[in-house]
Amino acid sequence: MKELACPSCQQIMTYQGKFVYQCAACEQGYQAQVHCDQCGDRLELLKACGAVDFFCNQCNEMKSKSSADYRLTPQ
Ligand SMILES: [Zn+2]
Ligand SMILES: [Zn+2]
Repeated sequence: MKELACPSCQQIMTYQGKFVYQCAACEQGYQAQVHCDQCGDRLELLKACGAVDFFCNQCNEMKSKSSADYRLTPQ
């Protein structure tokens, strides 16, 4: 998964699987939701050949995990 910085302290967080990130410094977990960087729609997760990609039903195209917009919800 993409490396994400903590919204409060800007340190790189640890990816824990299932779109959950943990900041070691803040001891705070975050649930990431992946949205399209162009239309803002929620992206569908595609897993093919071990690689993770996303698909936007609105734009009708594949999105790479680096171009997607990650929104973090504290847990
Ligand atoms: Zn933090
Ligand atoms: Zn889109």
